[in-house]
Amino acid sequence: MEAPAPIPPEIILRGIGVADGIAFGPLHRLETAPPPVPEDPVPPSRAPVELRRLDAALAAATARLRELQANLAAAGNPDAAALFEAQLDALADPEYTGEIRTAIRANRLNAARAVQTVSGKYAAALAALSDPYLRERAADVRDVALRLLRLLAGQADSADLPATPHILYARDLSPSDLAAAPRDSLLALATAEGGPTSHTAILARSLGIPALVGIPDWGPAAPPAPGPVLLDGTAGLLVFRPAPARQSAAAKRIRARNRLGARLAKLRDLPSETLDGTPIALRANIESPDAAPRVLAAGADGVGLFRSEYLFMDGTTLPDEDRQLRAYTSIARSLAPAPVTVRTLDLGGDKLTRHLDFPPEDNPAMGCRALRLCLARPDLFKPQLRALLRAAAESSNLRIMYPMVNDLADLRAAEAVRLACADELTAEGIPHRRDIPVGVMVEVPSAALTAAWLATHVSFFSIGTNDLTQYTLAADRGNERVAHLCPLAHPAILRLIRLTAAAAQVAGIPACVCGEMAWHPELAPLLIGLGVSALSTSPDAIPGIKHVIRSLRLDEARTLADHVLTLETPDAILSACRTFLSSHTPDLLDD
Ligand code: PEP
Ligand code: MG
Repeated sequence: MEAPAPIPPEIILRGIGVADGIAFGPLHRLETAPPPVPEDPVPPSRAPVELRRLDAALAAATARLRELQANLAAAGNPDAAALFEAQLDALADPEYTGEIRTAIRANRLNAARAVQTVSGKYAAALAALSDPYLRERAADVRDVALRLLRLLAGQADSADLPATPHILYARDLSPSDLAAAPRDSLLALATAEGGPTSHTAILARSLGIPALVGIPDWGPAAPPAPGPVLLDGTAGLLVFRPAPARQSAAAKRIRARNRLGARLAKLRDLPSETLDGTPIALRANIESPDAAPRVLAAGADGVGLFRSEYLFMDGTTLPDEDRQLRAYTSIARSLAPAPVTVRTLDLGGDKLTRHLDFPPEDNPAMGCRALRLCLARPDLFKPQLRALLRAAAESSNLRIMYPMVNDLADLRAAEAVRLACADELTAEGIPHRRDIPVGVMVEVPSAALTAAWLATHVSFFSIGTNDLTQYTLAADRGNERVAHLCPLAHPAILRLIRLTAAAAQVAGIPACVCGEMAWHPELAPLLIGLGVSALSTSPDAIPGIKHVIRSLRLDEARTLADHVLTLETPDAILSACRTFLSSHTPDLLDD
Protein backbone atom coordinates (compact mmCIF):
# COMPACT_ATOMS: atom_id res chain seq x y z
CA MET A 1 0.00 0.00 0.00
CA GLU A 2 1.30 3.43 -0.90
CA ALA A 3 2.16 5.78 1.95
CA PRO A 4 -0.18 8.78 2.08
CA ALA A 5 1.30 11.88 0.47
CA PRO A 6 2.86 14.10 3.15
CA ILE A 7 0.80 17.15 4.03
CA PRO A 8 2.72 20.20 2.75
CA PRO A 9 3.78 22.44 5.61
CA GLU A 10 2.14 25.76 6.26
CA ILE A 11 3.93 28.93 5.20
CA ILE A 12 3.84 31.69 7.76
CA LEU A 13 4.55 35.29 6.85
CA ARG A 14 5.01 37.55 9.85
CA GLY A 15 4.07 41.19 9.91
CA ILE A 16 2.84 43.76 12.37
CA GLY A 17 -0.74 43.38 13.55
CA VAL A 18 -2.33 46.82 13.35
CA ALA A 19 -6.01 45.87 13.75
CA ASP A 20 -7.20 42.97 15.90
CA GLY A 21 -9.21 40.05 14.65
CA ILE A 22 -8.89 36.86 12.68
CA ALA A 23 -10.12 35.93 9.21
CA PHE A 24 -9.96 32.91 6.93
CA GLY A 25 -10.71 33.09 3.23
CA PRO A 26 -9.42 33.39 -0.33
CA LEU A 27 -6.64 35.88 -0.94
CA HIS A 28 -7.15 38.66 -3.46
CA ARG A 29 -4.03 40.47 -4.52
CA LEU A 30 -4.73 44.03 -5.56
CA GLU A 31 -2.33 45.52 -8.05
CA THR A 32 -2.04 49.09 -7.03
CA ALA A 33 0.27 49.84 -9.94
CA PRO A 34 -0.91 52.78 -12.04
CA PRO A 35 -2.37 52.22 -15.54
CA PRO A 36 0.13 52.45 -18.42
CA VAL A 37 1.06 56.05 -19.14
CA PRO A 38 1.45 57.05 -22.82
CA GLU A 39 4.88 58.35 -23.77
CA ASP A 40 3.73 60.62 -26.63
CA PRO A 41 4.87 64.22 -26.41
CA VAL A 42 2.15 66.83 -26.86
CA PRO A 43 2.39 69.33 -29.70
CA PRO A 44 1.78 72.93 -28.51
CA SER A 45 -1.56 72.98 -30.33
CA ARG A 46 -2.81 70.09 -28.17
CA ALA A 47 -1.69 71.52 -24.83
CA PRO A 48 -5.08 73.20 -24.15
CA VAL A 49 -6.85 69.83 -24.63
CA GLU A 50 -4.47 68.13 -22.19
CA LEU A 51 -4.94 70.97 -19.70
CA ARG A 52 -8.73 70.57 -19.93
CA ARG A 53 -8.38 66.81 -19.39
CA LEU A 54 -6.25 67.52 -16.33
CA ASP A 55 -8.82 69.98 -14.95
CA ALA A 56 -11.61 67.45 -15.45
CA ALA A 57 -9.57 64.75 -13.66
CA LEU A 58 -8.74 67.12 -10.77
CA ALA A 59 -12.42 68.03 -10.40
CA ALA A 60 -13.58 64.40 -10.58
CA ALA A 61 -10.96 63.28 -8.06
CA THR A 62 -11.94 66.05 -5.65
CA ALA A 63 -15.62 65.20 -5.99
CA ARG A 64 -14.91 61.49 -5.39
CA LEU A 65 -12.81 62.17 -2.29
CA ARG A 66 -15.54 64.44 -0.88
CA GLU A 67 -18.08 61.69 -1.54
CA LEU A 68 -15.89 59.15 0.27
CA GLN A 69 -15.53 61.57 3.19
CA ALA A 70 -19.27 62.12 3.37
CA ASN A 71 -19.94 58.35 3.28
CA LEU A 72 -17.48 57.71 6.09
CA ALA A 73 -18.84 60.55 8.19
CA ALA A 74 -22.40 59.32 7.63
CA ALA A 75 -21.30 55.84 8.72
CA GLY A 76 -20.08 57.33 12.01
CA ASN A 77 -16.41 57.66 11.09
CA PRO A 78 -15.64 61.41 10.96
CA ASP A 79 -12.06 60.69 12.08
CA ALA A 80 -11.56 58.34 9.17
CA ALA A 81 -13.10 60.90 6.84
CA ALA A 82 -10.50 63.44 7.99
CA LEU A 83 -7.80 61.15 6.61
CA PHE A 84 -8.61 62.40 3.11
CA GLU A 85 -7.85 66.01 4.00
CA ALA A 86 -4.19 65.61 3.02
CA GLN A 87 -5.20 64.36 -0.44
CA LEU A 88 -7.78 67.10 -0.93
CA ASP A 89 -5.09 69.59 0.11
CA ALA A 90 -2.77 68.17 -2.56
CA LEU A 91 -5.47 68.45 -5.26
CA ALA A 92 -6.04 72.08 -4.29
CA ASP A 93 -2.33 72.90 -3.89
CA PRO A 94 -1.45 75.51 -6.56
CA GLU A 95 2.23 74.55 -6.36
CA TYR A 96 1.58 70.88 -7.12
CA THR A 97 -1.10 71.41 -9.79
CA GLY A 98 0.83 74.40 -11.20
CA GLU A 99 3.89 72.22 -11.70
CA ILE A 100 1.77 69.65 -13.55
CA ARG A 101 0.38 72.38 -15.81
CA THR A 102 3.87 73.68 -16.50
CA ALA A 103 4.99 70.19 -17.41
CA ILE A 104 2.17 70.02 -19.99
CA ARG A 105 2.68 73.52 -21.39
CA ALA A 106 6.44 73.97 -21.24
CA ASN A 107 7.77 70.40 -21.24
CA ARG A 108 5.22 69.10 -23.76
CA LEU A 109 4.18 66.14 -21.62
CA ASN A 110 0.72 64.64 -21.97
CA ALA A 111 -1.50 65.07 -18.89
CA ALA A 112 -0.89 61.55 -17.52
CA ARG A 113 2.87 61.76 -17.99
CA ALA A 114 2.89 65.20 -16.33
CA VAL A 115 0.92 63.88 -13.31
CA GLN A 116 3.22 60.87 -13.07
CA THR A 117 6.45 62.90 -13.27
CA VAL A 118 5.49 65.68 -10.86
CA SER A 119 3.84 63.35 -8.32
CA GLY A 120 6.83 61.01 -8.44
CA LYS A 121 9.08 63.94 -7.58
CA TYR A 122 6.85 65.06 -4.67
CA ALA A 123 6.47 61.53 -3.29
CA ALA A 124 10.22 60.88 -3.48
CA ALA A 125 10.95 64.13 -1.64
CA LEU A 126 8.51 63.18 1.15
CA ALA A 127 9.80 59.60 1.32
CA ALA A 128 13.34 60.89 1.88
CA LEU A 129 12.40 62.85 5.00
CA SER A 130 13.56 61.54 8.36
CA ASP A 131 10.20 62.02 10.10
CA PRO A 132 8.43 58.64 9.74
CA TYR A 133 4.99 60.26 9.74
CA LEU A 134 5.90 62.64 6.91
CA ARG A 135 7.50 59.74 5.05
CA GLU A 136 4.15 57.96 5.18
CA ARG A 137 2.49 61.04 3.62
CA ALA A 138 4.28 60.09 0.40
CA ALA A 139 1.50 57.50 0.19
CA ASP A 140 -1.08 60.32 0.06
CA VAL A 141 0.64 61.87 -2.97
CA ARG A 142 0.91 58.47 -4.67
CA ASP A 143 -2.77 57.88 -3.94
CA VAL A 144 -3.78 61.21 -5.49
CA ALA A 145 -1.60 60.50 -8.54
CA LEU A 146 -3.06 57.01 -8.97
CA ARG A 147 -6.59 58.41 -8.82
CA LEU A 148 -5.73 61.05 -11.45
CA LEU A 149 -4.00 58.51 -13.70
CA ARG A 150 -6.97 56.17 -13.52
CA LEU A 151 -9.32 59.02 -14.40
CA LEU A 152 -7.10 60.16 -17.27
CA ALA A 153 -6.97 56.57 -18.57
CA GLY A 154 -10.76 56.38 -18.45
CA GLN A 155 -10.74 53.76 -15.68
CA ALA A 156 -12.85 53.67 -12.55
CA ASP A 157 -11.13 55.96 -10.08
CA SER A 158 -10.76 53.34 -7.37
CA ALA A 159 -9.70 49.74 -7.36
CA ASP A 160 -12.20 47.08 -8.34
CA LEU A 161 -12.47 44.53 -5.58
CA PRO A 162 -14.41 41.27 -5.62
CA ALA A 163 -17.92 41.37 -4.23
CA THR A 164 -17.36 37.92 -2.69
CA PRO A 165 -15.64 37.55 0.72
CA HIS A 166 -11.85 37.84 0.47
CA ILE A 167 -8.68 38.79 2.30
CA LEU A 168 -6.98 41.62 0.51
CA TYR A 169 -3.24 41.84 -0.08
CA ALA A 170 -1.66 44.93 -1.62
CA ARG A 171 1.88 46.18 -1.63
CA ASP A 172 0.68 49.57 -0.43
CA LEU A 173 -3.06 50.07 -0.06
CA SER A 174 -4.20 53.66 -0.07
CA PRO A 175 -6.69 54.85 2.52
CA SER A 176 -9.10 55.83 -0.22
CA ASP A 177 -8.98 52.36 -1.81
CA LEU A 178 -9.70 50.89 1.62
CA ALA A 179 -12.54 53.31 2.29
CA ALA A 180 -14.04 52.59 -1.11
CA ALA A 181 -13.74 48.80 -0.69
CA PRO A 182 -17.07 46.99 -0.27
CA ARG A 183 -17.16 46.50 3.50
CA ASP A 184 -19.33 43.37 3.38
CA SER A 185 -16.85 41.35 1.35
CA LEU A 186 -13.56 42.60 2.84
CA LEU A 187 -12.67 40.10 5.58
CA ALA A 188 -9.21 41.45 6.41
CA LEU A 189 -6.23 43.09 4.79
CA ALA A 190 -2.45 42.82 4.67
CA THR A 191 0.07 45.16 3.10
CA ALA A 192 3.83 45.15 2.61
CA GLU A 193 4.27 48.84 3.24
CA GLY A 194 2.99 51.24 5.86
CA GLY A 195 3.56 51.43 9.56
CA PRO A 196 1.39 51.54 12.64
CA THR A 197 0.77 55.27 12.09
CA SER A 198 -0.03 54.97 8.38
CA HIS A 199 -3.47 56.25 7.47
CA THR A 200 -4.47 52.86 6.15
CA ALA A 201 -3.68 51.24 9.50
CA ILE A 202 -5.62 53.92 11.35
CA LEU A 203 -8.55 53.49 8.99
CA ALA A 204 -8.54 49.68 9.30
CA ARG A 205 -8.74 49.96 13.09
CA SER A 206 -11.48 52.50 12.86
CA LEU A 207 -13.50 50.30 10.47
CA GLY A 208 -12.91 47.19 12.58
CA ILE A 209 -11.10 45.29 9.79
CA PRO A 210 -8.36 42.89 11.00
CA ALA A 211 -5.13 44.13 9.41
CA LEU A 212 -1.40 43.50 9.13
CA VAL A 213 1.37 45.62 7.71
CA GLY A 214 4.97 44.64 6.93
CA ILE A 215 4.05 41.35 5.19
CA PRO A 216 6.88 40.61 2.73
CA ASP A 217 5.77 41.01 -0.89
CA TRP A 218 6.10 37.90 -3.09
CA GLY A 219 5.97 40.09 -6.19
CA PRO A 220 4.02 39.44 -9.38
CA ALA A 221 4.62 35.69 -9.15
CA ALA A 222 2.01 33.32 -7.79
CA PRO A 223 1.47 33.59 -4.02
CA PRO A 224 3.62 31.34 -1.79
CA ALA A 225 0.86 28.70 -1.83
CA PRO A 226 -2.57 28.40 -3.44
CA GLY A 227 -5.83 28.23 -1.55
CA PRO A 228 -7.38 30.15 1.30
CA VAL A 229 -5.20 31.93 3.86
CA LEU A 230 -5.55 32.70 7.51
CA LEU A 231 -4.89 36.23 8.71
CA ASP A 232 -4.43 36.83 12.42
CA GLY A 233 -4.42 40.58 13.08
CA THR A 234 -3.80 40.00 16.76
CA ALA A 235 -0.76 37.75 16.38
CA GLY A 236 0.48 39.54 13.22
CA LEU A 237 0.46 36.43 10.99
CA LEU A 238 -0.55 35.64 7.42
CA VAL A 239 -0.61 31.87 7.06
CA PHE A 240 -0.67 30.10 3.68
CA ARG A 241 -1.85 26.50 3.61
CA PRO A 242 -2.83 26.77 7.30
CA ALA A 243 -2.55 23.44 9.09
CA PRO A 244 -5.84 21.77 10.02
CA ALA A 245 -5.14 22.42 13.72
CA ARG A 246 -4.57 26.11 13.08
CA GLN A 247 -7.67 26.32 10.91
CA SER A 248 -9.84 24.71 13.51
CA ALA A 249 -8.37 26.94 16.22
CA ALA A 250 -9.12 29.94 14.02
CA ALA A 251 -12.58 28.74 13.16
CA LYS A 252 -13.16 28.28 16.85
CA ARG A 253 -12.10 31.83 17.50
CA ILE A 254 -14.28 33.14 14.68
CA ARG A 255 -17.24 31.12 15.91
CA ALA A 256 -16.60 32.26 19.47
CA ARG A 257 -16.60 35.84 18.26
CA ASN A 258 -19.84 35.34 16.37
CA ARG A 259 -21.45 33.61 19.31
CA LEU A 260 -20.40 36.40 21.59
CA GLY A 261 -21.90 38.88 19.18
CA ALA A 262 -25.19 37.01 19.23
CA ARG A 263 -25.13 36.90 23.01
CA LEU A 264 -24.46 40.60 23.19
CA ALA A 265 -28.12 41.49 23.06
CA LYS A 266 -28.78 39.39 26.16
CA LEU A 267 -25.75 40.46 28.18
CA ARG A 268 -25.62 44.12 27.28
CA ASP A 269 -27.70 45.42 30.15
CA LEU A 270 -26.87 42.76 32.72
CA PRO A 271 -24.41 43.70 35.48
CA SER A 272 -20.80 42.62 35.25
CA GLU A 273 -20.62 40.68 38.50
CA THR A 274 -19.59 37.25 39.72
CA LEU A 275 -22.15 34.61 40.78
CA ASP A 276 -21.74 35.76 44.39
CA GLY A 277 -22.46 39.37 43.45
CA THR A 278 -18.93 40.85 43.40
CA PRO A 279 -18.88 43.65 40.84
CA ILE A 280 -16.02 43.58 38.31
CA ALA A 281 -16.06 46.77 36.25
CA LEU A 282 -15.78 46.01 32.55
CA ARG A 283 -14.58 48.97 30.50
CA ALA A 284 -13.51 49.71 26.96
CA ASN A 285 -10.17 50.65 25.43
CA ILE A 286 -10.65 53.23 22.67
CA GLU A 287 -8.53 55.37 20.36
CA SER A 288 -11.08 57.97 19.27
CA PRO A 289 -13.92 59.97 20.83
CA ASP A 290 -16.14 58.62 18.05
CA ALA A 291 -16.00 55.14 19.59
CA ALA A 292 -18.87 55.93 22.00
CA PRO A 293 -21.50 53.94 20.05
CA ARG A 294 -19.27 50.83 20.09
CA VAL A 295 -18.70 51.24 23.83
CA LEU A 296 -22.44 51.50 24.47
CA ALA A 297 -23.26 48.62 22.12
CA ALA A 298 -20.77 46.40 23.95
CA GLY A 299 -22.45 47.09 27.28
CA ALA A 300 -19.21 48.45 28.73
CA ASP A 301 -19.15 50.49 31.91
CA GLY A 302 -17.46 53.46 30.26
CA VAL A 303 -13.87 53.74 29.11
CA GLY A 304 -10.93 52.35 31.05
CA LEU A 305 -8.33 53.57 28.57
CA PHE A 306 -8.70 56.32 25.99
CA ARG A 307 -5.35 56.36 24.18
CA SER A 308 -5.39 60.13 23.68
CA GLU A 309 -2.18 60.12 21.63
CA TYR A 310 -4.23 59.09 18.60
CA LEU A 311 -5.79 62.58 18.64
CA PHE A 312 -2.28 63.85 17.99
CA MET A 313 -1.50 61.62 15.02
CA ASP A 314 -4.13 62.85 12.56
CA GLY A 315 -5.24 66.13 11.14
CA THR A 316 -3.15 68.89 9.74
CA THR A 317 -2.13 70.41 13.09
CA LEU A 318 -1.69 69.36 16.70
CA PRO A 319 -5.02 69.53 18.54
CA ASP A 320 -4.99 72.69 20.66
CA GLU A 321 -6.64 73.05 24.06
CA ASP A 322 -10.06 73.90 22.63
CA ARG A 323 -10.08 71.04 20.14
CA GLN A 324 -9.10 68.64 22.91
CA LEU A 325 -11.77 70.14 25.16
CA ARG A 326 -14.36 69.33 22.51
CA ALA A 327 -13.06 65.77 22.07
CA TYR A 328 -13.03 64.97 25.80
CA THR A 329 -16.40 66.63 26.38
CA SER A 330 -17.96 64.74 23.50
CA ILE A 331 -16.91 61.27 24.67
CA ALA A 332 -17.63 62.03 28.33
CA ARG A 333 -21.14 63.33 27.53
CA SER A 334 -21.94 60.37 25.30
CA LEU A 335 -21.09 57.86 28.02
CA ALA A 336 -22.14 59.71 31.19
CA PRO A 337 -22.51 58.77 33.97
CA ALA A 338 -20.06 55.90 33.23
CA PRO A 339 -16.41 56.84 33.84
CA VAL A 340 -14.22 57.91 30.93
CA THR A 341 -10.52 57.50 31.66
CA VAL A 342 -8.31 59.62 29.44
CA ARG A 343 -4.69 58.56 29.43
CA THR A 344 -2.44 61.56 28.93
CA LEU A 345 -0.17 61.51 25.89
CA ASP A 346 1.73 58.26 25.46
CA LEU A 347 3.76 59.41 22.46
CA GLY A 348 7.30 58.33 21.67
CA GLY A 349 8.73 54.86 21.25
CA ASP A 350 6.85 53.56 18.21
CA LYS A 351 4.00 56.10 18.49
CA LEU A 352 5.11 59.14 16.54
CA THR A 353 3.36 62.11 15.02
CA ARG A 354 4.46 64.32 12.19
CA HIS A 355 3.77 67.39 14.32
CA LEU A 356 6.66 66.72 16.68
CA ASP A 357 10.36 66.15 16.30
CA PHE A 358 11.51 63.01 18.01
CA PRO A 359 15.30 63.16 18.30
CA PRO A 360 16.76 59.74 17.41
CA GLU A 361 17.36 57.60 20.49
CA ASP A 362 19.29 54.33 20.69
CA ASN A 363 16.56 52.74 22.76
CA PRO A 364 13.31 54.67 22.26
CA ALA A 365 11.14 52.25 24.28
CA MET A 366 13.21 53.19 27.31
CA GLY A 367 13.78 56.77 26.22
CA CYS A 368 11.92 60.04 26.39
CA ARG A 369 8.40 58.76 25.80
CA ALA A 370 4.97 59.05 27.44
CA LEU A 371 5.00 60.96 30.74
CA ARG A 372 8.72 61.64 30.39
CA LEU A 373 8.07 63.42 27.10
CA CYS A 374 5.15 65.34 28.62
CA LEU A 375 7.25 66.50 31.58
CA ALA A 376 9.94 67.65 29.16
CA ARG A 377 7.36 69.41 26.97
CA PRO A 378 4.95 71.50 29.09
CA ASP A 379 3.80 73.13 25.83
CA LEU A 380 2.22 69.73 25.01
CA PHE A 381 1.27 68.57 28.47
CA LYS A 382 -0.36 71.72 29.81
CA PRO A 383 -2.94 72.24 27.05
CA GLN A 384 -4.00 68.62 27.47
CA LEU A 385 -4.32 68.90 31.24
CA ARG A 386 -6.14 72.23 30.96
CA ALA A 387 -8.55 70.73 28.42
CA LEU A 388 -9.21 67.77 30.73
CA LEU A 389 -9.73 69.94 33.81
CA ARG A 390 -12.10 72.19 31.86
CA ALA A 391 -14.04 69.27 30.39
CA ALA A 392 -14.35 67.74 33.86
CA ALA A 393 -16.10 70.89 35.16
CA GLU A 394 -19.10 69.83 33.13
CA SER A 395 -18.51 66.07 32.91
CA SER A 396 -17.90 64.68 36.36
CA ASN A 397 -17.32 61.20 34.85
CA LEU A 398 -13.91 62.18 33.38
CA ARG A 399 -10.73 60.77 34.93
CA ILE A 400 -7.07 61.39 34.16
CA MET A 401 -4.50 58.61 33.93
CA TYR A 402 -0.72 59.07 33.58
CA PRO A 403 1.21 56.52 31.46
CA MET A 404 4.66 55.08 32.20
CA VAL A 405 4.90 56.29 35.76
CA ASN A 406 8.09 54.95 37.33
CA ASP A 407 7.49 55.93 40.91
CA LEU A 408 6.19 58.58 43.29
CA ALA A 409 8.61 61.17 41.93
CA ASP A 410 7.05 60.84 38.47
CA LEU A 411 3.54 61.08 39.88
CA ARG A 412 4.43 64.16 41.92
CA ALA A 413 6.01 65.85 38.92
CA ALA A 414 2.90 65.20 36.80
CA GLU A 415 0.60 66.36 39.57
CA ALA A 416 2.61 69.56 40.02
CA VAL A 417 1.96 70.43 36.37
CA ARG A 418 -1.72 69.55 36.69
CA LEU A 419 -2.17 71.69 39.81
CA ALA A 420 -0.32 74.56 38.15
CA CYS A 421 -2.82 74.29 35.27
CA ALA A 422 -5.69 74.38 37.76
CA ASP A 423 -4.17 77.52 39.38
CA GLU A 424 -3.87 79.16 35.97
CA LEU A 425 -7.49 78.38 35.12
CA THR A 426 -8.60 79.81 38.49
CA ALA A 427 -6.61 82.99 37.81
CA GLU A 428 -8.18 83.22 34.35
CA GLY A 429 -11.67 82.68 35.77
CA ILE A 430 -12.22 79.59 33.60
CA PRO A 431 -14.49 76.88 35.10
CA HIS A 432 -12.64 73.63 35.76
CA ARG A 433 -12.53 70.70 38.18
CA ARG A 434 -9.39 70.68 40.31
CA ASP A 435 -10.24 67.46 42.15
CA ILE A 436 -10.73 65.31 39.03
CA PRO A 437 -9.93 61.65 39.86
CA VAL A 438 -6.32 60.85 38.91
CA GLY A 439 -4.86 57.40 38.38
CA VAL A 440 -1.67 55.84 37.07
CA MET A 441 -0.82 53.11 34.63
CA VAL A 442 1.23 50.43 36.34
CA GLU A 443 3.31 49.29 33.38
CA VAL A 444 6.89 49.63 34.58
CA PRO A 445 8.16 47.10 37.13
CA SER A 446 9.31 49.88 39.48
CA ALA A 447 5.72 51.17 39.68
CA ALA A 448 4.41 47.70 40.56
CA LEU A 449 7.13 47.24 43.15
CA THR A 450 6.31 50.59 44.79
CA ALA A 451 2.55 50.29 44.27
CA ALA A 452 1.86 50.54 48.01
CA TRP A 453 3.25 54.09 48.01
CA LEU A 454 1.63 55.11 44.74
CA ALA A 455 -1.75 53.74 45.87
CA THR A 456 -2.10 56.26 48.69
CA HIS A 457 -1.78 59.16 46.24
CA VAL A 458 -4.14 58.16 43.41
CA SER A 459 -7.80 57.26 42.87
CA PHE A 460 -7.13 54.15 40.78
CA PHE A 461 -4.54 51.91 39.14
CA SER A 462 -4.61 50.49 35.65
CA ILE A 463 -2.13 47.74 34.93
CA GLY A 464 -0.66 47.94 31.43
CA THR A 465 0.40 44.35 30.97
CA ASN A 466 1.80 44.99 27.48
CA ASP A 467 4.54 47.31 28.65
CA LEU A 468 4.82 45.62 32.03
CA THR A 469 5.69 42.39 30.21
CA GLN A 470 8.14 44.05 27.84
CA TYR A 471 9.97 45.87 30.64
CA THR A 472 9.93 43.02 33.15
CA LEU A 473 11.20 40.45 30.65
CA ALA A 474 13.45 42.92 28.83
CA ALA A 475 11.93 41.85 25.51
CA ASP A 476 10.70 44.36 22.93
CA ARG A 477 6.96 43.82 22.49
CA GLY A 478 7.22 44.80 18.80
CA ASN A 479 10.05 42.46 17.85
CA GLU A 480 8.88 39.04 16.70
CA ARG A 481 12.37 37.60 17.22
CA VAL A 482 11.85 37.86 20.98
CA ALA A 483 8.08 37.35 20.95
CA HIS A 484 8.54 33.93 22.56
CA LEU A 485 9.93 35.73 25.60
CA CYS A 486 6.65 37.62 26.06
CA PRO A 487 4.05 34.91 26.74
CA LEU A 488 0.46 35.72 27.53
CA ALA A 489 0.89 35.02 31.22
CA HIS A 490 4.36 34.83 32.73
CA PRO A 491 4.83 33.88 36.41
CA ALA A 492 6.79 37.11 37.01
CA ILE A 493 3.98 39.25 35.62
CA LEU A 494 1.37 37.47 37.72
CA ARG A 495 3.37 38.29 40.83
CA LEU A 496 3.58 41.96 39.88
CA ILE A 497 -0.17 42.03 39.21
CA ARG A 498 -0.89 40.47 42.58
CA LEU A 499 1.41 42.93 44.33
CA THR A 500 -0.26 45.88 42.60
CA ALA A 501 -3.79 44.63 43.26
CA ALA A 502 -2.97 43.98 46.93
CA ALA A 503 -1.57 47.50 47.33
CA ALA A 504 -4.73 48.90 45.74
CA GLN A 505 -6.93 46.85 48.05
CA VAL A 506 -5.13 48.10 51.17
CA ALA A 507 -5.50 51.69 49.97
CA GLY A 508 -9.15 51.09 49.03
CA ILE A 509 -8.76 51.97 45.34
CA PRO A 510 -9.71 49.91 42.27
CA ALA A 511 -7.07 48.11 40.22
CA CYS A 512 -7.90 47.56 36.56
CA VAL A 513 -6.00 45.62 33.89
CA CYS A 514 -6.07 47.44 30.53
CA GLY A 515 -3.27 45.58 28.70
CA GLU A 516 -3.91 42.73 26.25
CA MET A 517 -4.18 40.18 29.09
CA ALA A 518 -7.66 41.62 29.67
CA TRP A 519 -8.63 40.72 26.09
CA HIS A 520 -8.37 36.96 26.69
CA PRO A 521 -11.46 35.40 28.33
CA GLU A 522 -9.39 32.53 29.73
CA LEU A 523 -7.30 34.97 31.75
CA ALA A 524 -10.22 36.86 33.31
CA PRO A 525 -10.76 34.37 36.22
CA LEU A 526 -7.03 34.45 37.00
CA LEU A 527 -6.86 38.26 36.98
CA ILE A 528 -9.92 38.47 39.22
CA GLY A 529 -8.44 35.83 41.53
CA LEU A 530 -5.24 37.88 41.73
CA GLY A 531 -7.31 40.77 43.12
CA VAL A 532 -8.01 42.86 40.05
CA SER A 533 -11.36 44.69 40.36
CA ALA A 534 -11.80 45.96 36.78
CA LEU A 535 -10.87 44.94 33.23
CA SER A 536 -10.61 47.21 30.22
CA THR A 537 -10.32 45.91 26.67
CA SER A 538 -11.53 46.31 23.07
CA PRO A 539 -15.30 46.73 22.93
CA ASP A 540 -15.68 43.59 20.79
CA ALA A 541 -14.17 41.39 23.53
CA ILE A 542 -16.41 42.70 26.30
CA PRO A 543 -19.45 40.42 25.91
CA GLY A 544 -17.33 37.28 26.22
CA ILE A 545 -15.49 38.55 29.27
CA LYS A 546 -18.77 39.55 30.91
CA HIS A 547 -20.06 36.06 30.28
CA VAL A 548 -17.00 34.60 32.05
CA ILE A 549 -17.35 36.97 35.00
CA ARG A 550 -21.02 36.11 35.40
CA SER A 551 -20.18 32.39 35.40
CA LEU A 552 -17.70 32.24 38.30
CA ARG A 553 -17.56 32.74 42.06
CA LEU A 554 -14.89 34.94 43.58
CA ASP A 555 -13.62 32.17 45.89
CA GLU A 556 -13.12 29.85 42.88
CA ALA A 557 -11.15 32.54 41.06
CA ARG A 558 -8.97 33.02 44.14
CA THR A 559 -8.34 29.28 44.41
CA LEU A 560 -7.38 29.24 40.72
CA ALA A 561 -4.96 32.15 41.25
CA ASP A 562 -3.39 30.47 44.30
CA HIS A 563 -2.86 27.30 42.26
CA VAL A 564 -1.54 29.14 39.21
CA LEU A 565 1.01 31.00 41.33
CA THR A 566 2.62 27.61 42.07
CA LEU A 567 3.10 26.88 38.35
CA GLU A 568 6.52 27.55 36.88
CA THR A 569 5.85 27.84 33.17
CA PRO A 570 3.58 30.03 31.02
CA ASP A 571 2.28 26.90 29.28
CA ALA A 572 1.21 25.31 32.55
CA ILE A 573 -0.45 28.59 33.57
CA LEU A 574 -2.38 28.86 30.33
CA SER A 575 -3.45 25.27 30.50
CA ALA A 576 -4.78 25.69 34.07
CA CYS A 577 -6.70 28.80 32.97
CA ARG A 578 -8.18 26.99 29.98
CA THR A 579 -9.25 24.06 32.13
CA PHE A 580 -11.01 26.47 34.48
CA LEU A 581 -12.70 28.24 31.57
CA SER A 582 -13.86 25.00 30.01
CA SER A 583 -15.46 23.94 33.29
CA HIS A 584 -17.32 27.24 33.68
CA THR A 585 -18.08 28.53 30.19
CA PRO A 586 -17.52 25.52 27.92
CA ASP A 587 -19.42 27.32 25.15
CA LEU A 588 -16.47 29.69 24.78
CA LEU A 589 -14.16 26.77 23.99
CA ASP A 590 -16.52 24.60 21.95
CA ASP A 591 -15.37 23.15 18.64
C1 PEP B 1 -0.04 48.54 28.06
O1 PEP B 1 1.14 48.85 27.97
O2 PEP B 1 -0.43 47.44 28.50
C2 PEP B 1 -1.09 49.48 27.61
C3 PEP B 1 -2.36 49.23 27.81
O3 PEP B 1 -0.70 50.60 26.95
P1 PEP B 1 -0.24 50.60 25.40
O4 PEP B 1 -0.58 49.27 24.83
O5 PEP B 1 -0.99 51.72 24.76
O6 PEP B 1 1.22 50.85 25.53
MG1 MG C 1 1.71 50.93 27.65
